[in-house]
Amino acid sequence: MKSRHLVFLGPPASGKGTQGRRLADDQGLAYLSTGALLRQALRNQTELGERARPYLDRGEFVPDEIMVPMVLEWVGHQENGWLLDGFPRTLPQAEALDEALSEEPRAIILHVPDEELRRRVACRLECVDCHRVAREGEGPTCPTCGGRLEPRADDASSNFENRLQEYRRLVLPTISYYCRKGRARIVNGTGSPDEVYGRVKG
Ligand code: AMP
Repeated sequence: MKSRHLVFLGPPASGKGTQGRRLADDQGLAYLSTGALLRQALRNQTELGERARPYLDRGEFVPDEIMVPMVLEWVGHQENGWLLDGFPRTLPQAEALDEALSEEPRAIILHVPDEELRRRVACRLECVDCHRVAREGEGPTCPTCGGRLEPRADDASSNFENRLQEYRRLVLPTISYYCRKGRARIVNGTGSPDEVYGRVKG
């Protein structure tokens, strides 16, 4: 039986958003991108946005004390299956999620070499309204909702390198955790979005 609780892990620009959304749509799962939620909060200058801003500006992870309650609240409101894009990242986040659930989630991990990530991030855009990811040349408006496409502020090169380092330091142990528990599937994330999706679907 297919799991109804999925988490997507992978380095920045590995395609978590593109692939996660598509899989969630296909399988009728609710979808949450924690990164998109934080960027929206930043733009709307909400309390959450203001608490997260210094971390996002530096390309650092937002502390677990902020992330865990926020995501557990969202998960608690879901009556059916769901897919989380970008959560958990740290080991305490993964453990907190497991403790809160009766059915533990399965993880899909997108693997993409660093050089390919750098190439992707140099030309990616995101819709300010629906957060769909696009490439330069697809603009000026979002093909899905007509919103404005913009580069992500946190994709600037020094910020991106910090996020890559944070990924190695904090997310790799989380991936090991899912692997040890036999709940991880590592997917080759290189190639066209359709090729990658073929592998993600499994
Ligand atoms: P993403 O859109 O998934 O690349 O996330 C963008 C940024 O949001 C990350 O670089 C982090 O600063 C922050 N963020 C998103 N999800 C998390 C999380 N689970 N834990 C900590 N920080 C997060």
